[in-house]
Order: sequence, then structure tokens, then C-alpha cells
Amino acid sequence: MENPARRIETAVVHAGSERKVEGAIVLPVFQSSTYLYSGQSAYEDLKYIRLSNTPNHEALGAKLAELEGGESALVTASGMAAISTALLSVLSVGDHLLVQDCTYGGTRDLVTRDLPTLGIQFDFIDPAVPDSWQEKLRPETKAVFVESISNPLMQIGDLVSTVDFASRNGLVSMIDNTFATPVNFRPLEHGFDLVLHSCTKYLNGHSDIVAGAVVGGEEMVRNVRSRLLRFGGSMDPHTCFLLDRGLKTLVLRVRQQNESAVQIARFLTEHPRIGKVNYPGLPDAKVHQQTAGFFSGFGGMLSFELAGGVEGARLEGARRFIDRLKIAVEAPSLGGVETLVTRPATTSHSGLPAPEREALGISESLIRLSVGIEAVDDLIDDLNQALGRSK
Ligand code: PLP
Repeated sequence: MENPARRIETAVVHAGSERKVEGAIVLPVFQSSTYLYSGQSAYEDLKYIRLSNTPNHEALGAKLAELEGGESALVTASGMAAISTALLSVLSVGDHLLVQDCTYGGTRDLVTRDLPTLGIQFDFIDPAVPDSWQEKLRPETKAVFVESISNPLMQIGDLVSTVDFASRNGLVSMIDNTFATPVNFRPLEHGFDLVLHSCTKYLNGHSDIVAGAVVGGEEMVRNVRSRLLRFGGSMDPHTCFLLDRGLKTLVLRVRQQNESAVQIARFLTEHPRIGKVNYPGLPDAKVHQQTAGFFSGFGGMLSFELAGGVEGARLEGARRFIDRLKIAVEAPSLGGVETLVTRPATTSHSGLPAPEREALGISESLIRLSVGIEAVDDLIDDLNQALGRSK
């Protein structure tokens, strides 16, 4: 084989860090906002942190591009900076977007509250029902936006049909790959145009930075970058350094989290106090078969509800259950080494009006668990003791 592509386990460690500055094994933090002028004629060629072209940005961009199998990648100040800048590089006044009905609350708020004020319209689509998409299509439709594993119901839509529908109708296909990570699924290899990440989550993995990324073809990423340098949501070099460090253990962390989450999902499914478990790796999960075949794991996120009773009683039970957990920490966010628990209705999806949340299947009592890298038996013991006392 000529020039075999290196495996992801190698790329997370070495990609982007071929250049050894002063012999340092780890790329130092270039904590300089500006750089000597060296005759550049184009504004974006000046070296300046907001232009995302310091050595730390470039090293990280090269690593993320390789991990996702893209030509180019750009890091941003947060996941929302990646999503908003990418959407606004593809859409402008008069355009229309098709967007998955249940996504991260911040993305949904951006689409429903901000895009219309910029003259951009949208329609929701059910990502599992491709037959229903055609009637939502308009001559002005420019893009389709989905999540590879959705927050917080862990749905995996028909991603194969999404790509096919986008290419047949000349739409840009955009996917938030935060929950799956490139360890479990690489959307560009299956035809998506742009991959977005909240690197705050798994890619960094240590709950100590806020960061985002956009990965895709050279031209599309250049387009996003030209917006980013004006909108200003750029990452600072120290955050680049921390993200690069976090990425080195991405594969080890995510594989452990995949495994632990499967075991926890099985434990919860069999527990008499549990009503419903959302985890795409369970045998009866409603996941599109062909799409599921492209995933090498289903991630460390799951959500569930307690069994029986009316919603009010379930909510009280959920509150007691969370209070009694001793290892899992109650906090928003996800994807770190520590197990976090939250009720999305009060955190990630609190911006949605209650009736909209309920219609999507996000009840007040829905509990979301981000499985960390602790011993899975300890996590199960903890859940078990908290469930035993949550009545
Ligand atoms: N995408 C998903 C799936 C998320 O869960 C989140 C945050 O929770 C975001 C994007 C936004 O990321 P950030 O908080 O880094 O802006």
C-alpha cells in the first residue's frame, strides 16, 4: 500500500505536531496576539490571533482535519461559534434551512430566534422519516442541518438519506458530530459537506475549556474562516494548547465511555425503577439500520426516565435520584472524564418553551447521563443505590 493513511490512534497523538519548535516535543503556546509584518498583501494573511492562523491554530486545524478526514479544519471560541459562523457562511437573507427537529437547545434557539431576524427561514424535519422531507423543500432551501447522535434523546436519523437528499437538491449538508466524535463516526467519509463540533465536550474531554471546530472541504472552510475573522469568535492560543493536549487521549477515553455506556444502558433497561432508556447501542433502539452500520460505537451519552406514575411524581423521583448520586456530579455539559448528570429541561434545553419540549419528547423528568471514565462497576453501584432510595 502506498502512503497508507495513519490510524486515528496515531493521528490523535501526532497529527499537526510534526514541527518541533526549539526541539520541544509539545508545541509551545504562542501567546502573542500579533506577529511581525512580512509583506502580506491580503488581510487574512496577516498573522493575528483573531485570524486563526497562529502556529497553535494551524497545528490544531491540521489535527482535526485528519481526524475527521477533511481537507481543512478551523477552531472556534465555542461550539456555538462554530455552528453560528458555519450557518451564516452558508445562509443569507432570503434563504431557507431544513433542520433536525430535536437538536441541542442552543442550536435550536439560534435557528428559531436569531436566523429569522436575519431574514433566514427554517423548517424542522424528522431525521428518521426521509419521505417527509420533500414537502418541506423550497426553491430557497440552501442547507440541511442534523446531529449525528441527537441531544438529549440520542436519536440517529437516516444520515445516508440526508446526504443523498442534500446532493440531489443542491443543499449543503451540515452535521454536528459532537456526541459521536470521529472515533465513532466520520460524516465526511459518508458525504456530508461540513462537520461541526463543540470541542468543549469529548474532543477536549476534561471540562476545562469552551471550544468549537468546523471541518470540511478547503473552499467551504475558507468561507467559514472569512466570516469568523469578521464575526470574531476565534479561539485563543492557550485554549488551542489545552484542546490539543485533550485530543491526544480522545480515542482511549471515547472507547472506554462507549463500553461503560453500553453496560449502564443495559443495567438501566433491566432495572424495575426505570421506564425508558435512550441509547442508540441498545438492541431495540430506533436507529436507521444502514446508518448504524457506519458507527463503530455509540458514545457515552444516554438519557432515561423513571418508571410509572404521573409526570409530577416522576419529576420528584428524578430530583431525589439525582440528589442521591454520589459519583455523578449534577451539572450541564458533557463529554468529560467525570460522569455528569442533568435534567435537560433545566439546562441544555431550558430555552425551549415547555410545550415545545414536551412535544419533542423531552419531559421535565428526563435525566441525561454523560458517562465518564470512572470504573463502570462503581458507576452502576452508584446508580443502583440512588435508584433504590428514589421512591
Ligand atoms: N452541539 C451540541 C450537540 C452540544 O451539546 C452543545 C453544548 O452542549 C453545543 C453544540 C454548543 O457547544 P458550546 O457550549 O461549546 O458552545
